[in-house]
Amino acid sequence: MRARREFVLLLEDVNKTFDGFRAIANLTFYMDEGELRVVIGPNGAGKSTMLDLITGRTRPDSGKIEFGRDTDLTALNEYEINRLGIGRKFQTPSVYVDHTVFENVLLSLRGPRGVFSSIFHRVTPAQRDRIYAVLSTINLTDKAQRKAGALSHGQKQWLEIGMLLAQDPRLLLVDEPAAGMTDEETHKTGELLLSLEGKHSIVVIEHDMAFVRQLARKVTVLHQGTVLCEGTVDQVQNDERVREVYLGRKKEAKPKSP
Ligand code: ADP
Ligand code: MG
Repeated sequence: MRARREFVLLLEDVNKTFDGFRAIANLTFYMDEGELRVVIGPNGAGKSTMLDLITGRTRPDSGKIEFGRDTDLTALNEYEINRLGIGRKFQTPSVYVDHTVFENVLLSLRGPRGVFSSIFHRVTPAQRDRIYAVLSTINLTDKAQRKAGALSHGQKQWLEIGMLLAQDPRLLLVDEPAAGMTDEETHKTGELLLSLEGKHSIVVIEHDMAFVRQLARKVTVLHQGTVLCEGTVDQVQNDERVREVYLGRKKEAKPKSP
């Protein structure tokens, strides 16, 4: 038996089948507190499903999923898991477009109840400070009074990360944050995530290898619902199996015998 370490997140031998299709197959994954981990893998590898399993959106068929010290996530629902301090950002941004950037962060600070009426309540000085601290982190301080709908795609993604940060999650799960971003926005997103390292444990799912290289943290490669390899960016990029399944660098043209 392995010596018990205190992982912020532990998945052991997790399986999930959809109509006979093994989306997740004996997935084992450990993460340390404060770690920034990058998960890559081809389309359909099971990356988003892994997040669905952690957040309780999907139930595993078998296996262990634990948060912190022995909290069994498989016994909890989505809401309870979120309340434990696990925040998730989906691929497409979902902000309240008719509300200002400031109000969007305020709404997430106040939680799901009475969402719209809560805007009209007085904002306490502590809340204001907290909101501006978040806006500073996501570089949107000067956009505080702008309608969220007027932001660029990249700015909306940062705002949504800010809305999660307002809840001060212990674990942050971010699914393809750089999708659809310009190179400059992608780079800024990398800087944002790096600035959060140590304050939160973060799983970032990403496709863009330039972005992964910018983060330059431990990389886990998923393939067919399981971990193909783990290591530094260089280690995974030089791994023959990864090159074949993910990076698409086919071997030098060696004609196959018919
Ligand atoms: P990735 O995020 O790595 O691209 P996904 O986790 O979205 O991959 O999907 C992995 C596989 O599981 C895909 O073949 C997908 O069609 C399937 N899948 C994911 N969620 C469901 C679901 N709720 N119902 C049926 N099939 C699903
Ligand atoms: Mg996905």
